[in-house]
Amino acid sequence: MFFFNAQSNKTGSLNVGLMGGTFDPIHMGHLVTAEEARQQFNLDYVVFVPTGIPPHKDEKTVSFPEHRYLMTSLAVMSNPSFFVSRFEIDHAAPTYTIDTVRHFACGKESGLEVFFITGADAILEIFTWKDYEELLRLCTFIAVSRPGYSLDRFYESLDRSCPEMKHKVHLLEIPALAVSSTFIRERVALSKTIKYLTPEPVEQYIKKHGLYRVSL
Ligand code: NAP
Repeated sequence: MFFFNAQSNKTGSLNVGLMGGTFDPIHMGHLVTAEEARQQFNLDYVVFVPTGIPPHKDEKTVSFPEHRYLMTSLAVMSNPSFFVSRFEIDHAAPTYTIDTVRHFACGKESGLEVFFITGADAILEIFTWKDYEELLRLCTFIAVSRPGYSLDRFYESLDRSCPEMKHKVHLLEIPALAVSSTFIRERVALSKTIKYLTPEPVEQYIKKHGLYRVSL
């Protein structure tokens, strides 16, 4: 169970960003994204939620959840507004975003306003996600992209299936997202430096545990 110890400095509800991703590994693009979302959407906290066994991925191609959780924890250590949740990684079975959002939202009575932040590519597929209509009711989505990315195709589909939810998805452009986890894994496999692409403790963790030495 994840608890917030601090109180909101505003009257009314707490705005909480859930930063969903595989984080294999977490990098500067993710951190810049979370900080930008925190500021633009007036979030009180951002909780990073590393996926357990992603429902749509082969578990053999993704690093162990514990490695991804620890790297994420190291990366957010210095930011008092950032937290990491074990909710998805502690699930033996695949977890779906709806389970995570229900866990945090606990209905709007909880006083938490939930914003789910993740890559625009992932959000484009939201119509295939479990209970997506309830998800769109329970939280606001922040679809993160590199500059120039267009959500036109997404909004056309949303217009057809649930137009009333169009206002629930926002696009956030982050130039620093030119960095990707794939790029970092490939560089490690080629013995190239990843300095300044991810926080130093994460870089050290990758070295110490010999992660990504062999390209997947
Ligand atoms: P992904 O396919 O690994 O990533 C898609 C793209 O989005 C990549 O370019 C990725 O870049 C970027 N990205 C991922 N998370 C990001 C974040 N938090 N901020 C900025 N960019 C991000 O997507 P995924 O990680 O598997 O899934 C993303 C989230 O959607 C997870 O929380 C997952 O549980 C959820 N999801 C839920 C369902 C479901 O409930 N059925 C289905 C699919 C996905 P990097 O590789 O650099 O991160």
